[in-house]
Amino acid sequence: MGQQTVSADVLCVGGGIAGLMAAIRAAEMGAKVVVVEKADTLRSGAGATGNDHFRCYIPEVHGADIEPLVEMSVNANTGNARPAGYYRTFLGKSFDIVKLWDSYGIPMKPLGKWEFTGQALPGRPRLALKYEGQNQKVILTREALKRGVQIVNRVMAFDLLTDANGINGAIGISTREDKIISFLAKAVFLGTGRCVRLYPSPTPGWMFNRAEFPSNTGDGRAMACRAGAELTNMEMPQSWAGPRNFSRNGKGTWIGVVRSADGKPVGPFVSQPDRLHGDMVANLFPTLFGEFEKKNQGPLYMDCRGMSQEDYDYMLWGLRNEGNTALINHLQEEGIDLRRDAVEFMTYELTTRGGIKYGEGGEASLPGLYAAGDEYFAGIATAATFGYIAGENAARYAKERDAAAKVDLRADTEERIELLKKASNRRTGAGWQEANIALNQIMQHYIGTTLAQPMLEAGLTNLRRLRQKASESLISRNQHELTHCLEVMNLMDIGEIMFLTALARRESRGEFRRSDYPFTNPLLNNKELACKMVENQFVTEWKELKK
Ligand SMILES: Cc1cc2nc3c(=O)[nH]c(=O)nc-3n(C[C@H](O)[C@H](O)[C@H](O)COP(=O)(O)OP(=O)(O)OC[C@H]3O[C@@H](n4cnc5c(N)ncnc54)[C@H](O)[C@@H]3O)c2cc1C
Repeated sequence: MGQQTVSADVLCVGGGIAGLMAAIRAAEMGAKVVVVEKADTLRSGAGATGNDHFRCYIPEVHGADIEPLVEMSVNANTGNARPAGYYRTFLGKSFDIVKLWDSYGIPMKPLGKWEFTGQALPGRPRLALKYEGQNQKVILTREALKRGVQIVNRVMAFDLLTDANGINGAIGISTREDKIISFLAKAVFLGTGRCVRLYPSPTPGWMFNRAEFPSNTGDGRAMACRAGAELTNMEMPQSWAGPRNFSRNGKGTWIGVVRSADGKPVGPFVSQPDRLHGDMVANLFPTLFGEFEKKNQGPLYMDCRGMSQEDYDYMLWGLRNEGNTALINHLQEEGIDLRRDAVEFMTYELTTRGGIKYGEGGEASLPGLYAAGDEYFAGIATAATFGYIAGENAARYAKERDAAAKVDLRADTEERIELLKKASNRRTGAGWQEANIALNQIMQHYIGTTLAQPMLEAGLTNLRRLRQKASESLISRNQHELTHCLEVMNLMDIGEIMFLTALARRESRGEFRRSDYPFTNPLLNNKELACKMVENQFVTEWKELKK
């Protein structure tokens, strides 16, 4: 394998929304910034082909008092509320970021005014600013380059470099050439997005048919945890919903009513297509489609019939900006007209809602490590805002620190490199797809929507056997497959952490449901479950949630 070394003050791992915003701000602060990106920052990550709702607080629209909106945000998530301070910081900064994006050329006011539509409850403040995000990644990439950021595309970071003083960079492999790259840095920002491909897709034969960016495989979480940083709330499940079998996010952009087959609205919020609010029942309870089906009350439909031509055009414009062009093309090809035809929706597969624990400054639990965005379930606006804040703090931290004179690899990193060499040299063995599918089956069967100790324990045993077997038999024929092997090994770490934390949470809360502990334990209110690696084992610990 070829070797290369790249040095920086601040290394941003993942050039998504959070990573590019961190890079932009750190460079403005005078830091030498490198972004390492698995794909290409121009069109990578969950924001690759656009988003259309940016949650924010604009005083001239929402009024001078931010507190009701903070309270609304704290109570919006069931089961794992973040502290109020997190939302106060986010909302307080969000308008600055909106104006910044607008100045970069991302149309935040495409219709000439601040327009808040969709994803809202009738009678409550509407926080989702409608914007035109189709080219946001191209624009953010341009802004980063303008500020002297070095972008290294097509490299997958797979471990953090650490010593007793904290973080010294990261190590990655090229996804195209036979090459390992060491990134030496005084501070590292992690922005590798969500954790997709843990569970089977709605069409298991097509593993990449995902509502989320399928190459986001929880690498940041796995790297951080192995390096000794804390993850939080990893047992908390999350799933989204959308058109059946055509896996696409963007539900909040549909201006329809969720109805049962007999035409009754399922939720209490709207009974006719409503552009201002959408139907929040699908946002608040994305699992409802699956639950109705289980009770033989499905299928459920997103029904846009009865909408005006103007609303129809508005919705298609939103869907295009939301990265949903393939879906629109498909509807056209199949002769499906949303003004006439209701579309069956489904609940998509599970993933973890939890992630890297980071504070209001983006600081993770190791000195020199920062994170933001979907490293712990976020959304576009929090990714942009905390990415920016974290980039600023990472640059400040880097200024106060000398680069490490020498960086030794940890034993587990050496083992991973050895695994890669063996996978490349093997003539026979199991492909990464087999390992990924086996993992999907274990996750689906043993850690689904209702949990219990014997199933969790059996699943954990099977997952550990799978990991052992995979490390002894994975084969890769080229650099692309090698990258997938690393992704699958990361996914297995995430899976193991989910089993361990699910076993440790002996209660039910929000969407986390244990049939052997069906009640919510009040002693665990305002607590979160952390997990980190200590002496090569993942260990869990209950922590007080900061106010
Ligand atoms: C279709 C769709 C529509 C959406 N619409 C909205 C919306 O309207 N409003 C909203 O609030 N949210 C929306 N979201 C969610 C929103 O896009 C995400 O929350 C946001 O993009 C998260 O930003 P991020 O930087 O944390 O992650 P991402 O933007 O996903 O970026 C992660 C980056 O890390 C890279 N990466 C991953 N692993 C590695 C590695 N090991 N090494 C190097 N690089 C790596 C990836 O390639 C990617 O570029 C939508 C999501 C989708 C998929």
